[in-house]
Amino acid sequence: MNMKNFEFYQDIKVERWKRQFFSIAADTEEEAVKQAECYKANDVTAYDIEVTTEDLYETEICLSPSENDGQNTIELYLKEGNRLIGGNEETEIKCNDTFAIVCPYCGFKDDASYPTADLGEMQCDKCGKHFEYVRETVISYSTEKI
Ligand SMILES: [Zn+2]
Repeated sequence: MNMKNFEFYQDIKVERWKRQFFSIAADTEEEAVKQAECYKANDVTAYDIEVTTEDLYETEICLSPSENDGQNTIELYLKEGNRLIGGNEETEIKCNDTFAIVCPYCGFKDDASYPTADLGEMQCDKCGKHFEYVRETVISYSTEKI
């Protein structure tokens, strides 16, 4: 066995809360709160004020491509040359002119069910979503000597 190690990395786009600590000098708490109110809707780090920031990792969630304008939120790279192998943006599913029924949502290939009607509605065995199918029949002729 003479295996080599290949290095990879994965970029993942997340959404997370940050906590930004700051203080305000005032005579009373009431006065301080009043002054602090302007940071209700504005990022406090944009002001001339001393701020310590803490990432709240426990609030972190991975975004889906649909929450990211259809762009990747997970990307896989080969470290050598930073080569992009692929990502999770919604890939096109080949579901036209296939021999078996392929779910247009998840790509599940249903080899087991052959509906009796030439068109209709089906439910995917894997993702449970409903879709329509059309069966196209190709006519061919064969002959034999009599
Ligand atoms: Zn499906």
